[in-house]
Amino acid sequence: MPNYRIRPLLPTRMETDMGILAFRYKYGTKIQSPAFFWYIEGADKKILVDTSADAEMATSYRGFPAEKLTTFEGALAGVGLKPDDIDLVIQTHLHWDHCANTAKCRNAKVLVTEEELRFAFSPHPLTGLSYKKDLFTDLNFVLVNGRYEVAPGIELIPAPGHSPGTQAVAIDTEKGKAIITGFCCVLENFYPPEEVKKLMPVITPGTHLDAVQAYESMLRIKGMADILIPMHEPSFVGVDSIP
Ligand SMILES: [Zn+2]
Repeated sequence: MPNYRIRPLLPTRMETDMGILAFRYKYGTKIQSPAFFWYIEGADKKILVDTSADAEMATSYRGFPAEKLTTFEGALAGVGLKPDDIDLVIQTHLHWDHCANTAKCRNAKVLVTEEELRFAFSPHPLTGLSYKKDLFTDLNFVLVNGRYEVAPGIELIPAPGHSPGTQAVAIDTEKGKAIITGFCCVLENFYPPEEVKKLMPVITPGTHLDAVQAYESMLRIKGMADILIPMHEPSFVGVDSIP
């Protein structure tokens, strides 16, 4: 089995509220939320998971104060790549902060769940602002349904609830199975403090279409993973490689 490494790439950090990430938990607590994307190192193809968003868009589109750390191209250059080098972009889902640079990868096929794509073009108003259609109208999509093997040791796992078609990405590494969660959260969602854990072992994402479904997805992913990689976990800032 191949052993991959996951390289966290970070162009943008957004100031947001913990309530966006964790449901009914620490409302009013500000968090500097990194908008990561990831390069899976060690595959035959050049594979990204999501493509993040620029600070300017975070502020102009959603009003979040945001810090520009670098550009998408600058972050990619950190692993020796250019947008045209990318063969495959795995979209965990199509919220704007996860697909804003996908169109720059002009040679890439884009893996997304059929459910997510259908919903993204006519979202329920409840989460309608999360989808910015011009970001994904012209992509070279490959639609997936259910569990899907991208390459030996890289598998897509349905993880709905945050959005209808969210998928997680399970990646074999020398330290076991690493799972990029797909749904937006931090490590605290998976490891709540003792007083919360007595009632529930995980905290459902603050942003969701179906809170219970998102909760079940969290439990399933937690049970499968040796290494959990939440989408917006601040402690991964400055981490060069997982593992
Ligand atoms: Zn997100």
